[in-house]
Amino acid sequence: STQGLPTKMRAAQIQEQGAIDVIQVRDVDTPAPAKGQVLVKVEYAGVNFIDTYFRGGIYKAHLPYVLGTESAGTVAAVGEGVTEQSHGFKVGDRVAAYTAGGSFAEYAIAQADKVAKLPDGFSTRDAATVLTQGLTALTFVKEAHEVKPGQFILVQAAAGGLGLLLVQLAKRFGATVIGTTSTEEKADIARKAGADHVILYGEGRDVVGQVYGITGGEGIDRGVHGVFDGVGKDTFDMDFDLLRRKGTLVTLGNASGPAPAFAPLRLGPKNLKVCRPILNQYVHTRDEFQSYSTELFKLVQEGALKLAVHGEYELTTEGMRQTQIDITSRKTSGKLLVKVA
Ligand code: NDP
Repeated sequence: STQGLPTKMRAAQIQEQGAIDVIQVRDVDTPAPAKGQVLVKVEYAGVNFIDTYFRGGIYKAHLPYVLGTESAGTVAAVGEGVTEQSHGFKVGDRVAAYTAGGSFAEYAIAQADKVAKLPDGFSTRDAATVLTQGLTALTFVKEAHEVKPGQFILVQAAAGGLGLLLVQLAKRFGATVIGTTSTEEKADIARKAGADHVILYGEGRDVVGQVYGITGGEGIDRGVHGVFDGVGKDTFDMDFDLLRRKGTLVTLGNASGPAPAFAPLRLGPKNLKVCRPILNQYVHTRDEFQSYSTELFKLVQEGALKLAVHGEYELTTEGMRQTQIDITSRKTSGKLLVKVA
């Protein structure tokens, strides 16, 4: 029951999709958890590039829509069918939640299957920093392209929130990691995260030639075994050249715009594979979400994954607009957080 909770809360809402000024932090009704749902009292919420797609229109949003797809805090209320026996947490427990929107608010609804109880000593700040990007990095290096010892792996935008985690995990799984970044400053950050080589990309720069130099090999046997690309439009064509025979292109985001359509025949000359995964489909079941979250939290607690926070923002109209200006500005490195309470 939501008894005792405030009936109104602050939330970053859009009533239409469009430019940054569609975001307004306003008072809305505090939602009540339906069957199978949980209400989280949010302490920190994580900013992701996907928030810009829901605000701007690349992805569809059911309006009015409260932005934000991940939060961490405490369980404020549970819906029917959610018990400590069935889900492993109760009202008052500290949790992280992967939501279908609604996280940039004082209270957020989540499906109970997408809520993980935090281990002792694991802060809600770290949880909001790592949940979405960490689960993405972990599931993608295991399932989209299985990274194995001895492989060359290329991570586009390696100093980004997701990029830094992909670099660390690809290293951990034994690969030689090549990152790309737009500036020297970011290259340093990617190297510190463990990238063996960092190449500056952009206008007039020969990324492919440098990758061939690093990987060695001849003809269709030079290049990397896997590319993880969240940049999309601007790098998609290059990715085909970066890969060696039987390599995998994991096209996973639209930071520069969605990747264009292409003909399957283009895969033939090197027997390439292309996949376009979405985190949600790898953590679809409760078991998948729980086991990957548990593994992720352990990696953080063991120090195997270092977290980098670019900055914290307030749950105000100005603060929320600034998150989207900053994440699309290419000036950030690591995670952007919203401090709610
Ligand atoms: P980042 O922190 O990585 O920010 C995006 C980065 O992309 C920038 O810092 C910039 O790095 C690079 N970039 C290249 N071209 C552009 C451009 N034209 N405009 C803006 N940025 C550009 O964001 P996230 O870590 O949140 O997300 C990274 C990508 O991963 C996104 O595409 C996101 O959608 C995707 N993603 C996909 C998921 C999935 O389930 N498929 C889940 C999570 C994230 P630089 O300056 O070095 O070029």
